[in-house]
Amino acid sequence: MEPGNVVRVPLGPRTALGVVWDRDETASEVDESKLKSITQVLSAQPIPDFHRKFVDWVARYTLSAPGAVLRMTLSAPDGLLPPTAERWVRVVPDQSPPKGYRETPARATVLALLGDSREGALHRPAAIQRSGVSPTVLDGLIKLGLVEAFERRPRGRWPVPKLRRDTFALSQGQQEAADRLVADHAQGFGVSLIDGVTGSGKTEVYFDVLDRLLADRANTGQILVMLPEIALTGQWLSRFKQRFGCAPALWHSDLTSKQRAETWRAVAEGEARVVVGARSALFLPFRELEMIILDEEHDGSFKQEDGVVYQARDMAVVRANIADCPIVLASATPSLETVLNANEGRYQRLILPSRHGGATMPTVSLINLREDRPKRGTWLAPTLVEAVEKRLVAGEQSLLFLNRRGYAPLTLCNACGHRYKCPSCDAWLTEHRLARRLVCHHCGFQSKSSNTCTACGEEDSLVACGPGVERVGEEVVRRFPDARVAIGSSDTMQRHSIRELIQAVERGEIDILVGTQILAKGYHFPDLTLVGVVDADLSLYGSDIRASEKTFQLLHQVAGRAGRAEIPGEVMLQTHEPDHPVMQALIADERDAFYDTELGQREMMALPPFGRLAAVVVSDPDEDGLDAFCRELVQRQPREPEDADGVKVLGPAAAPIAVVRGRHRRRFLVRSAPGVRLQPYLARWLGGLKTPGALRMRVDIDPYSFL
Ligand code: ADP
Ligand code: ZN
Repeated sequence: MEPGNVVRVPLGPRTALGVVWDRDETASEVDESKLKSITQVLSAQPIPDFHRKFVDWVARYTLSAPGAVLRMTLSAPDGLLPPTAERWVRVVPDQSPPKGYRETPARATVLALLGDSREGALHRPAAIQRSGVSPTVLDGLIKLGLVEAFERRPRGRWPVPKLRRDTFALSQGQQEAADRLVADHAQGFGVSLIDGVTGSGKTEVYFDVLDRLLADRANTGQILVMLPEIALTGQWLSRFKQRFGCAPALWHSDLTSKQRAETWRAVAEGEARVVVGARSALFLPFRELEMIILDEEHDGSFKQEDGVVYQARDMAVVRANIADCPIVLASATPSLETVLNANEGRYQRLILPSRHGGATMPTVSLINLREDRPKRGTWLAPTLVEAVEKRLVAGEQSLLFLNRRGYAPLTLCNACGHRYKCPSCDAWLTEHRLARRLVCHHCGFQSKSSNTCTACGEEDSLVACGPGVERVGEEVVRRFPDARVAIGSSDTMQRHSIRELIQAVERGEIDILVGTQILAKGYHFPDLTLVGVVDADLSLYGSDIRASEKTFQLLHQVAGRAGRAEIPGEVMLQTHEPDHPVMQALIADERDAFYDTELGQREMMALPPFGRLAAVVVSDPDEDGLDAFCRELVQRQPREPEDADGVKVLGPAAAPIAVVRGRHRRRFLVRSAPGVRLQPYLARWLGGLKTPGALRMRVDIDPYSFL
């Protein structure tokens, strides 16, 4: 047995899965009688040394139990077992038929088929299907000793991707960036940022790098490409297949357990050379990691909010460091964390300044909703309506974007003023008219919508307040009765129907697309020339320290959907705040100036990426118990200068959504000065703390959600 072996061990009355972590010389001091034997050593590949270091690192950083982090690695239980063997058949060489043997046509067919196959062998189902005989004929030949059955390990289906270059060549700028990354590869760990506008060819650059690394025969390493979950379907994948002629190994939440097992094994055994996955792919047990590529690095979905709370982008950098391999981040709107690292020279910045093939960037303009007002009960300003009309006449496509699911965010009764609220959260219910339901977006609670107020019994008194995508879609259909309209929203659509919708847009079967953020990410629609943002202010306010940054990134990405081919695109942002720095930066296309201002403000307030933050959220169904516990937490706070130097705790305060799933919530925000680590303080403060009863405490290092 070696460190890294996956084992089953007795634990009380049960057995549990684990990994042999390390040799411990002091173990000999433990009383023999207290030791138990390992029940079973699994046949899975041992978890490599650098992967175990990574698990330890993540556990320390996120203040999680190492076992909880390891569980993310052992996430495909069937992958730990040997694969199910396949049944094969082959001709027994030089075997003469027994006496009295009669060669029927069916027998002759089977023998000829096997004889013609490579090594005289075939997968049993294939032999039956291709010969067209019944299985009894095959079994008869086996009984006669002319054919033998045997089992073998399924052969890998993990071809090494190879780029088909005949269709395209990189531009000079793209080539230089790719050359640089290939050259740097020999240097081991290093972080590079491909910083280029949407459509500048960032993907083509890393495709080229990937290809050149794989083409090196001496190389057996693996490349991990991380994408936001939503990008794992559709366009990116078909583009990969088109460019490389095969699919990569895929890792995301929609795989069947069989697919998970096969992929897990192929990664552990080093057979899968290119693995493309969402954030959880980071915890796959790569045998030999050669490069990590993380696309759309600013994307919020890289932050895992449940279980072990981690930021996959940051952990990917750590992982690359431990594996001593390069990591490439790519984005048109990088996070301020990454921008600061690049500004200060810790990350290499590779710039792709323009769109490929001379496509121009869209022009962005603002629609001031205080002056250019939509009529009561409608959401599109006259200027935007006119712009959509123009596209319809020209046979071009428009995207109307509103990042709010459902029909209306609030329903109230005109007669008694009752507002529909979630029974277990401190939040309004969102009407989903297509599904005829009122839904809580925080806990998933649903109730049937009806015409009668549940509070006063008045009929037809309910009114919808504010717009969601469904409502904007309704307005669009009313205004443009002849247009082909589609609504795309994550809750109404399955993965495959999103794919179908995207394809319909590509084929030009849709004139106006109304959608939420699922349509904002990385798609390329050549005939889409207008993007209208219905409410550009939506994410601007609230307690999120990154509100401006996130709004800028989102709107910039949505805007990037317009005019990606020959016809220039136009973007219109409906706003009540035309003077806001985010809006001004968007119309002037002054990303870097906006980033500088934003960085300046963060630095002044010692917020990330300068100082550090952690959130401690405690929740309990019993509010009094919760308050008592919070008082205890306040009392326990380390105050000695040597413990608390450079660290400040704010709170407790009621969380912005004060009740979720019937649990009251309080939040502490822990802030440290630049250069001061938070973990030692948090460990001292919270280490060994017993949480009473139903109370839950969640520690979030580097929080991205402030709800
Ligand atoms: P980004 O990842 O920066 O948004 P992409 O790599 O998706 O940009 O490129 C945008 C579009 O331009 C894609 O359709 C891509 O295939 C095309 N493209 C980019 N560079 C080239 C090139 N050198 N030759 C041919 N097509 C290219
Ligand atoms: Zn709820």
